This record gives sequence, structure tokens and C-alpha cells, in this order.
Amino acid sequence: MPFEIIAGVVLAFMIFLFANGINALPLAAIGILAYVLQNYTDKSSSIIKNSPKSTDTGKAITFEDIGGQDTAKNELLEALDFIKDYDEISKMGIRPLKGILLTGAPGTGKTLLAKAASNYIDSAFISVSGSEFIELYAGVGAQRVRQLFKTAREVARKNSKKHCVIFIDEIEVIAGVRGKNSSHLEYDQTLNQLLVEMDGLSAKDDDVKILVIGATNRPDILDPAILRPGRFDRIVRVDLPDKDGRLEILKLHTKGKPLAEDVNLEQIAKETFGFSGAHLENLCNEAAILARRAGEKVIRQCHFMEAIDKVIMGEKLRRKPTKAEMRRIAVHECGHALISEFFKPNSVSTITITSRGQALGYMRQKQEEDIYLYTKNHLEAEIAIALAGAAAEEVIFGESSTGASGDIDHAVDLAKKIIFSGMSEMGIVDKDSIPLKELHQEISKVINAQKAKAKEIIEKHKDELNLVIDYLMENEKMDGETFRKMLKDLKNFKVA
Ligand code: ATP
Repeated sequence: MPFEIIAGVVLAFMIFLFANGINALPLAAIGILAYVLQNYTDKSSSIIKNSPKSTDTGKAITFEDIGGQDTAKNELLEALDFIKDYDEISKMGIRPLKGILLTGAPGTGKTLLAKAASNYIDSAFISVSGSEFIELYAGVGAQRVRQLFKTAREVARKNSKKHCVIFIDEIEVIAGVRGKNSSHLEYDQTLNQLLVEMDGLSAKDDDVKILVIGATNRPDILDPAILRPGRFDRIVRVDLPDKDGRLEILKLHTKGKPLAEDVNLEQIAKETFGFSGAHLENLCNEAAILARRAGEKVIRQCHFMEAIDKVIMGEKLRRKPTKAEMRRIAVHECGHALISEFFKPNSVSTITITSRGQALGYMRQKQEEDIYLYTKNHLEAEIAIALAGAAAEEVIFGESSTGASGDIDHAVDLAKKIIFSGMSEMGIVDKDSIPLKELHQEISKVINAQKAKAKEIIEKHKDELNLVIDYLMENEKMDGETFRKMLKDLKNFKVA
């Protein structure tokens, strides 16, 4: 029953007693004390009782349901085999692991891996989040940690399992460096209790063997005590998937969906560099929604392509800029596209002047292969592409607009990459001690040189650019193939 109703009834009863000459104040004091104590106990155990995920057995997910992540899977499987074949490995004197830490960007499949791990060793599975441990009440977090391990054993026994996996998501909330948090005593006590519980785990003596799997996006802020051998002594990196990984994940999430014959998952995998598994799942879902919206029975490649834009930029907006603004947006985006195609032939995937999310229009690039190392040439070309929007506005209208501010931030980041990798004229520099004025001068030099280059190319192709701009004004969107075909027809366009 809600607290307000109970309080109202009690107050009315006390007034009634008081009107009849009975002093009910001592009775009320005892009632309040009992309520506070009850509330405290409830809070300390509520993490287990109330967590909807806590009794999830994780049965459904297996390693086959996880696309890519081969390195992470292999690392995890080896650690799990130590637990599964305990008798065998103990003959070799190998100590099974008590904790495994999964680190990586959001949505890369850390929770899925933990569930698959639990399934692999046929264990019970309990899932909590680091933030669920933290309360205003001192000592509640530590109490919840004790309760968590107790419940893990009880759940395993009840389900006749020999193991239990405790999965702690966002573990950095409780396992951040001690003494750093403002209400640090409560945080420190919670972490200390987790360390105590993990130290107390024994593969030999415990009837239920517990494996703690932690997950975090911020391994850099973890207290070193948590990473010392005997606690989380295996750290498994769960990276963003590469092209093959993305293809596998796309296959998993399109299984059972009605795909048209023109769907090319390999092409989609190529166009989604930087997407996590969660993004790809969302992409497949959005493609299906778009197909349904269009009244189609099957999902086509065009639905996937539009879904990519939607996942990156957000939903299309009803906002309609004026005709003059639309033309400026078209000039800006065509500028980006022209320079992109100039330095990186075949790189333009889509150009559009439809507003989505924060963007009034955009040009999306694709790349044949995932790139992890960047040369100076490559970074300079990217700066030229980033500033080509503003350069095109200057060439066509004589001045640029605020639409270029995001591009400038991006160009500055790229210029810093060149400078801090020792590839600028400054040579190798210490990024922490370089004077701000010198840094600013070098950034401007790198950026202005590339902007001038972009402007020169656009000047040279001004007439042709206007043709593409007209097409975009009429059609709002243009795919890379159409753009390239128009450029090919323009005889004097030469790529770098
Ligand atoms: P967070 O750090 O935000 O908690 P996470 O790394 O734990 O994220 P999950 O919760 O495991 O990510 O993944 C979210 C969803 O994304 C999954 O339910 C699944 O649909 C999809 N997904 C992520 N990675 C993969 C993958 N490798 N294979 C298949 N699906 C994936």
C-alpha cells in the first residue's frame, strides 16, 4: 500500500485517540522507527527481489547467436573450459578463473557473451547493473553485494546447477578507483565487499561454483585491486565488429525476415563501418519497418540503405527549409561529394538534402575495406572533404554559413591527429606541453591548405557542380552510382 495512504490512516487514528484523551505519541514513534528499519532492509535486498533480469537463466543464447567477435569468443571459451573441465585442468595445476571482465563499446554484445557463457557451462545466471548497488543509505551497497552472492548460490541449488554466473553490467560504477567518488565511503564499502566475496570463492570447496562476469565501457577508470590476479584476471576485449563480423551479425538478424532478391548483405556490411551489433540489429529492424510503411511484403536493398541513414542520422524531419536554404544545403553537400569522389574514387554512397536528426542534409561515404591506420595523405584528403561544403558555398554564393561549424570541428580533430602523430611540419611534439598558440597556428596552417585545395578543385568544376546541384534540388536524394555517372559524363572531371 502506498506510504501516503498508510500515513493518512495512522494520522486520523491518532487524532481520534487524542480526542478521546489517549496520548498516542510513544506509539507513533515506535511505528516510524519500525517503518524506517523495514524500508532499509527492503532497500538492501531489493536489487535481487526486484531485478527483472535476476532469475533469467540465459538459456536461449548460445555462442552461435553471436556474430563476429571470434577473438572474444575464443578467449572466453578457454576460460569457460577451465571451469567446465575442472577435474581435468586441476591435474595440470591450473586454477580456474573467478572473474572475467568484458570491455568494449556499448552494444558490442557483452551481455550476449555473458549469457552464452552461462549456457555453455550449464549454469544459473544472475544479472545486475553496477548502478543498482548505489543508494544514499550507507552500507546498502555492501549489503546488496553479500545478498547477491547468497542469492546466486540459492538460485543455482534450486535449479540443481553446479555453477552460477553473476553478470555485473556497468561494473565501473562500483569498481571505479577508490576514494575518487564524492560519496566515496559508500562506493568504497561496496567495492570492498565485492573483493571480499570474490576472494572467498573457492573452486575446490564451494558446492556452487560462482563465476563473476563484469562488463564495462570504461576499463580505464577501474580500481587496480579489481584487476589483480585472483579476481578479474582475464580481460576480454569486445571490439566493434569488422566487415566479416558485421556480415555475420546481419545474417543473424535477417534470419526469418522476408528479404527481396536484390538484398546484398555484403554491400550493407561494407557501408556500416563503425556500427556495433546493436546498431546492426536496429538497422535490420528499421529496414523491415520502412518496407512495411511502403506497403511492401519483402524488404528491399533500398530499405536497408535508408535504414542506414536513419540509424546514423535519426528520423526524417518535417522541417522544410526555404528554397534558398535548400539550394545552399545542396551546394554544401555536393561540395563534400565532389571532393570525396576526387580524392577517393567510388566513395560516395548517398547525397541528400532531406533533414534528419541534427543535419539539414548530408553526404554519406562508403569504404571498400575497414581502415585502422591513417596516413598523412589520407587525413589531409579527409580534411579537404570536410571543408568542401564551406568551400563550395564560398565559390557559389561568395560566403559560407553556420552549416559548416560541425565540419570545422571535424577538420580540427583530423588536423590534431596529424600533428600529434608527428606528421606535421612541427615534427614530433609532446601534446601535453606544446604551447596553445603554436598548436593553433599549426592547425590553421594544415586546415587552410586543404580548404584552399578543395576550393580550387570546386572552382574548376563549378559549372558541372551546378548540374548536380540542380538534380539534387529536383530529387532531394541521389545515390553514389547516379552521382558518378553524372561526373563521368562531365568530361573534364579527373580524380586525384
Ligand atoms: P552495453 O555495453 O550498452 O550494455 P552490450 O555490449 O552488453 O551493451 P548487448 O546488450 O549484448 O550489448 O547487445 C545489444 C543487442 O545488440 C543484442 O540484444 C543483439 O540484438 C545485438 N548484438 C550486439 N552484438 C551482437 C553480436 N555480436 N551478434 C549478434 N547480435 C548482437
